[in-house]
Amino acid sequence: MSDIVRIARALDFAARKHVGQKRKGAAGEPYINHLAEVALLVAEATEGRDTNLAIAALLHDTIEDQDVKHEELAAEFGKDVADLVAEVTDDKRLPKEERKRLQVETAAARSNRAKMLKIADKIANLRSIRSSPPSHWSKERKEAYFDWAARVVAGCRGVSPKLEALFDELHRLGPG
Ligand code: ZN
Repeated sequence: MSDIVRIARALDFAARKHVGQKRKGAAGEPYINHLAEVALLVAEATEGRDTNLAIAALLHDTIEDQDVKHEELAAEFGKDVADLVAEVTDDKRLPKEERKRLQVETAAARSNRAKMLKIADKIANLRSIRSSPPSHWSKERKEAYFDWAARVVAGCRGVSPKLEALFDELHRLGPG
């Protein structure tokens, strides 16, 4: 199957799976906006050379948020894509604080491509907090998110100067 067909299929799959989901921000953007943003970030960072990584970016929250199974992703998009998504998926059986701690602790052990995906995800999240924060979030909560994201990204460094510079600039600016 051609790359363009695979990417279009991933976009369609993600749009259907996340159809009722919105971002947490006050603007309540459709969730697919987040997935498109992360896919664009990794596609540009790899100069279009890693189709599977862009596809995994479109699908990166399907297991975590929509209970899609690894086997389903593997059957539709191949094992490489399914493994990448699994690598950036939190274990939802654990409490939230534990999941956040594990993201920091396990970041360095991930593959370079999963690290790129993680950094792109955090870039998109920091941008969202700056442009449309959840209405009930205090300044302290936004700052705590920025600092936690920086701790996750600290374990992901050395994989993409471009993504790391984008993240660092956002972190320097702060939640605003
Ligand atoms: Zn995400």
